Amino acid sequence: MVGLSDKALWECLSQVSDPEIPAISIVDLGIVRSVRPCADGGCEIVITPTYSGCPAMHVIEENIRQVLQAGGMENIQVHTQLSPAWTTDWITEAGKEKLRAFGIAPPAQRAMRTSGTIDISALSVIDDVEIACPQCGSIKTRLISQFGSTACKALYRCGDCLEPFDYFKPH
Ligand SMILES: [Zn+2]
Repeated sequence: MVGLSDKALWECLSQVSDPEIPAISIVDLGIVRSVRPCADGGCEIVITPTYSGCPAMHVIEENIRQVLQAGGMENIQVHTQLSPAWTTDWITEAGKEKLRAFGIAPPAQRAMRTSGTIDISALSVIDDVEIACPQCGSIKTRLISQFGSTACKALYRCGDCLEPFDYFKPH
């Protein structure tokens, strides 16, 4: 049995969207850490959840299996790796573009990681960084709330187009 190449595996995985932000794939988010074709024609996929205990992880695993099975893959092993913890630094440039197109401002800074795990519920942004409005690009934006649609996002409002938007907090 001939398995899929590395490249084909990555291409398949880039069709798996994030359950919370369907506009962005798990590859764009940096959730997929490694892919390895195995000698038996199967493959081993290593993923790191965006935060530990992420309930979407089972959905992601299932979606990975479905996409790879549809691509003719058998013996799919999906491993979850919790350390090192996922960071917004792993979001690709293409991923940041897709976030913007989806109306979410991507992290404007690198994560200031102090230790392995972070408490998402205590994650806050310091309101001294210019965050560009994903709708109109204006930097006349203002922090409204430390928490947006999810704990890992903050809520901002644009002073030009007046639209509120989520900002993905660097972490
Ligand atoms: Zn705007």
